[in-house]
Amino acid sequence: MSRTALATIHLGALRRNFARVRTLAGDARIMAVVKADAYGHGLERVARTLDQADAFGVAAIGDGLRLRAAGIGTRIVVLSGPDEAADRAEFRRLALDAVIHHESQLDWLEADRDPRPLRVWLKIDTGMHRLGFAPEQAAAAHARLRALANVDRELVLMTHFAASDEFDSPRTPAQMRAFAQAVAGLDGAWSLANSAALLGWPAARGDWVRVGGVLYGLSAIAGKSGAELGFAPAMTLSTKLISIKNIQRCETIGYGGAFVCPEDMPIGVAAIGYGDGYPRGVRAGAPVLVNGVRAPIIGRVSMDLLTVDLRGVPQARVGDRVVLWGPERPVEEIAACAGTIGYDLTCGVTRRVLFVEDTD
Ligand SMILES: *Cc1c(COP(=O)(O)O)cnc(C)c1O
Repeated sequence: MSRTALATIHLGALRRNFARVRTLAGDARIMAVVKADAYGHGLERVARTLDQADAFGVAAIGDGLRLRAAGIGTRIVVLSGPDEAADRAEFRRLALDAVIHHESQLDWLEADRDPRPLRVWLKIDTGMHRLGFAPEQAAAAHARLRALANVDRELVLMTHFAASDEFDSPRTPAQMRAFAQAVAGLDGAWSLANSAALLGWPAARGDWVRVGGVLYGLSAIAGKSGAELGFAPAMTLSTKLISIKNIQRCETIGYGGAFVCPEDMPIGVAAIGYGDGYPRGVRAGAPVLVNGVRAPIIGRVSMDLLTVDLRGVPQARVGDRVVLWGPERPVEEIAACAGTIGYDLTCGVTRRVLFVEDTD
């Protein structure tokens, strides 16, 4: 095998995280959000593993197509709905639920002569100001959908929170109030909560929770790892040491000579880089685990390789396992070193990394 970078997906962790979501969600149904190739964990693999989900949430029709092609019969919700009138036929053919968030989509539905019923989620913008109808337009949009014989009677009313990870902020309660007011008197199930709201705002559970991050053991809460929130990381990113050399004091390591050796020291080279999705912008000193022992990255991360200070791991040998993130090293810690969040790192693992499954 020419590449040694591995993303191991822990199927048991996915199942345990889902079971925990089930407990936290109470009677609410669960949409497992699998957009962006299931946050980088593999769309089909995750959908097959989480076969207890009441629906899958995706960002694009193409993901719905992949899931249907994989034989997944579960309800699938396209979170941004049709992007153009021509998408209607695909929604019908693949039996996808459409999130309707904009006037133009209502126009397309009204012009649609296909009699087969389409399942629709009506999205209200209560403060995120990304997708959704303004609260004062909710009743009119609802009425237009209700007037269409080819829209399923069972509408779901939804909104999305902008700051549900801030458990002491007034913004989420304000959005909840705005939603309740906007949809007062309109029939339909309610869906508000993402992962952070499931954890921090039990009153926002509604009839459907829409969770992504915590299913993968990722944290949506700043300063906390998924594990600290009681969820198990579902991905281990690992590779091997492919070189160890002693480099002399005052010599520099890697592009730009960003690291100057303060003494004669052993430098390990791990076979992974930004071409695999390891963040190039990680700050110096971000840790990896070499055979389970913490060692800092030194110098710049390059496309295929990164360099590690092995002074603290004198027993390291070529071929030793290097863990970049996973249950033993929270992805949130690396994300913090790279100025981003764990979601971004798992989503960014590239196709040349070999994905393997671990049933545990
Ligand atoms: C991505 C997404 C979610 C899931 O968010 P998590 O933080 O991963 O739980 C829920 N709802 C919508 C509309 C989304 O786009």
